[in-house]
Amino acid sequence: MGTNNEPLRQAMALLLELPQTRIEAAFEDRDGQLIVTLSSTQEGTTCHRCGEWITTRNGWSEWKTVRHLDLLGKPVYLRFRLPRDRCDCDDGPTTTQQVPWFNRRSRMSKAYEEHLLRACINSTLSDVAHKEGVSIETLQGLLDRHIATTPDWEALPSLEFIGIDEIALKKGHRDFVAIVTGQSGDQTHILGVLEDRQKATVIGFLSSMPKRLRQTVQVLCSDLYEGFINAAKAVFGRRIRVVADRFHVAKLYREAVETLRKRELKRLQKTLPKATYRQLKGAMWALRKAPDALTDEEANVLALLFTHSPRLREAVDLRDELTTLFNQPLTRKQAKLRLSGWAARVRRSSVRCFDGFLKTLNLHKEEISNYFPQRHNSGFVEGLNNKIKVIKRRCYGLLNREHLFQRLYLDLFGYALYGRRNNGLAPRAL
Ligand SMILES: [Zn+2]
Repeated sequence: MGTNNEPLRQAMALLLELPQTRIEAAFEDRDGQLIVTLSSTQEGTTCHRCGEWITTRNGWSEWKTVRHLDLLGKPVYLRFRLPRDRCDCDDGPTTTQQVPWFNRRSRMSKAYEEHLLRACINSTLSDVAHKEGVSIETLQGLLDRHIATTPDWEALPSLEFIGIDEIALKKGHRDFVAIVTGQSGDQTHILGVLEDRQKATVIGFLSSMPKRLRQTVQVLCSDLYEGFINAAKAVFGRRIRVVADRFHVAKLYREAVETLRKRELKRLQKTLPKATYRQLKGAMWALRKAPDALTDEEANVLALLFTHSPRLREAVDLRDELTTLFNQPLTRKQAKLRLSGWAARVRRSSVRCFDGFLKTLNLHKEEISNYFPQRHNSGFVEGLNNKIKVIKRRCYGLLNREHLFQRLYLDLFGYALYGRRNNGLAPRAL
């Protein structure tokens, strides 16, 4: 590009979106990359020593080459050196000009950094590295510079609700972490990824919250893990309401029926004629469904199964009764009564598969019935649990706790932080 072609120079400056710069030259190199030489038109900078605005020119920085946003599908590299200005303070220190489009020490323009961060939202680093022609290490370095690995407590006005959930980091490994999420107003936040949910770990984490914030916590939602419940009570005292996560409770009583189902099918396989047993195919899936969701075929399979195993029918009916109970709008007091009634029916029945669950129910009646008044559950961030699942699948085997925190944070807030300014609409008619 000729340096005297002012309209073209302006067009290029517009395309590159670099405020207070002047394009000195541009050419395409042999690899099809656009090399643009710039100069800064900004006057002066802030003295790094005293903070005064200084304008006395005293030389230049080294030449830099940094990656910028692609233009027409071609990688753009910016070449520039920045003015250095001298101050009158102290021994006359010089400061390299700070410009709004470039972070010192980065090898990219700010616009390109934001572009990469946006590309990492809901994606894998290797995928982005591949598409952009950068290394995974570069991307991880970028994440480390921009995305914190711990929550910014100061930015939270309150935290009414905290949820904790345990997930396996790697498939098939007993490598669990505990994810702590919070709700402030209607905003969901990722608060921590803990190495385990032992009492000491959880107490350590909850105590790291500023006291101001701890005092705003009203509800804690978790599964029925003693370590966590005791930690919560130790940190927040009696005023906190611990809510047993409904879905964890459901998992417990549904697993009880699954165990019985396995045992009963094994028994029937031995005692029934082969042809009859074969007709029970699909029973497992049918048993997991809600009664009103069954197809005719599945209903027939279950009817047959239940004629051979009345106990299993009894267990399934009790299970569905409990699910119905959880679906009803009850007060805490009503819920307690109904749960006791259910437990009494179980004890009177011939079904023993719920014995373990009855103990849990008895021990945690408070936490379980605490669910009812406001129907809190730690899946309050349905989206978040899904995001965690997707991140695990995406980043299989590549995650440590800090990176998991970063990625959750980026997935949750990335579009708010690095989203595009345009609204996806075509330009208005010219
Ligand atoms: Zn100074």
